[in-house]
Amino acid sequence: MIVRNVDVAVLGAGPAGMAAALAAARGGADTVLIERESHLGGILKQCVHDGFGLVRFGEKLSGPEYAGRFVRMVREAGLAVLTSTFVAEACRDGDESILMLVDRRGVTELHAKAVVLATGCRERSARQVMIQGTRPAGVMTAGAAQYYVNVLGYLPTTRCVILGSGDIGLIMARRLTLEGAEVLGVFEAKSIPSGLSRNIAQCLDDFGIELHLSRTVTRIFGDDRVEAVETAAVDEKMRPVAGTEERLSCDGVILSVGLIPENEVAEALDVPIDPATRGPLMDQNGQTQVLGVFVCGNASHVNDLVDYVSESGERAGAAAAAFVAGRRTRRLLPVIADSTVLLYAVPQFVDMDAPESGAVVYFRSREELGVTVVQVTAGGETVARHRYQHLRPPEMERLEIDLSRIPFDITFLNIGTESVAVAEVKS
Ligand SMILES: Cc1cc2nc3c(=O)[nH]c(=O)nc-3n(C[C@H](O)[C@H](O)[C@H](O)COP(=O)(O)OP(=O)(O)OC[C@H]3O[C@@H](n4cnc5c(N)ncnc54)[C@H](O)[C@@H]3O)c2cc1C
Repeated sequence: MIVRNVDVAVLGAGPAGMAAALAAARGGADTVLIERESHLGGILKQCVHDGFGLVRFGEKLSGPEYAGRFVRMVREAGLAVLTSTFVAEACRDGDESILMLVDRRGVTELHAKAVVLATGCRERSARQVMIQGTRPAGVMTAGAAQYYVNVLGYLPTTRCVILGSGDIGLIMARRLTLEGAEVLGVFEAKSIPSGLSRNIAQCLDDFGIELHLSRTVTRIFGDDRVEAVETAAVDEKMRPVAGTEERLSCDGVILSVGLIPENEVAEALDVPIDPATRGPLMDQNGQTQVLGVFVCGNASHVNDLVDYVSESGERAGAAAAAFVAGRRTRRLLPVIADSTVLLYAVPQFVDMDAPESGAVVYFRSREELGVTVVQVTAGGETVARHRYQHLRPPEMERLEIDLSRIPFDITFLNIGTESVAVAEVKS
């Protein structure tokens, strides 16, 4: 078996991983970028719609265009890149991480002083939502449908329903319609949509596709291929309401029922996971509870904007290089989110020994709120605050903290709302 040593190994070459590898190399670390697919770009390769890069480049790019800019930077920087290489196993050995890389030639044992996990997220599948009936062909996740249409050039359904109102499902409702399929509706069990408002407007309203809230798919019919589904209204506990069933003929059921950070490698490295985000517990630079193991992008928590994914990659890559160069001490303050108003906040810790980078806290609200002031307090003092016109669970928000404002004797920070001026906004 080949054994290789490296300063920083970056796992996953989506936008997070590419940004992390570039930053680690800029920081002077001998860096390798590892990707299981044959091309760099991650999920962006299949996102042919525009809306990427407004924050970073001030332009509305498609996913491949946004990825292309980073691929070019990776090439120009002369980074070591391993494609078609899968990280099959990982373990810790003292201060190092050992990764087992599998490619066409066999297995390589890679010893890395620091690892950046940029493995993205995976979609919840049909097995994770309880639907009665048979398991015929034609039931697929929205990401799989997107891959069929945008990468392989196949139309996987001619008449379908979409279950769940996540952004990928909304985008695929429009894409399938443009490609000639009939989308009978988007069915969402919750009383509010899961996707961004702009996607509801641009992907459903503009194409006359109906969004059915508090309604779900209760049965799938068909032997070899989906022939029909049954939908029904649900009550506030998500139980189907008898007498509201409707049968719809279709040959496809597209699932858009949530994303989960991909963290098999993190778990193999004994990295503690936050049950709220399903990603690792981390500080503002993505360093997890295991020294020398960093995380960024959708592997840390599910992001809706690629610009912030790249931002988190840059922070993690730069911090991994600093770690390799000798920065080992940390003074961690927990960031405690008020769970009555916030679904989660990341990072879960700030490292006061790395104050030069400041800290960016990302959070989602638990429910829809109108004008809201969110603040971070340290021992009763406000150290960061921002007024938001509205907060909605599908929209991740961001708040910058100047760490120099935090008194030395503080042991934790709180993030919550200072005021909610207009109670609840109904969309
Ligand atoms: C359908 C869709 C539409 C979106 N629309 C927008 C939009 O309009 N605007 C916007 O700003 N953002 C949008 N986003 C969000 C944004 O694009 C994503 O959050 C971002 O691309 C995620 O980047 P990532 O690098 O964290 O993960 P990914 O792009 O998923 O990259 C992870 C990479 O890791 C690799 N990998 C995983 N495990 C291993 C392993 N064990 N070994 C080797 N490699 C591995 C994978 O193959 C993959 O290439 C959208 C996302 C989706 C899914």
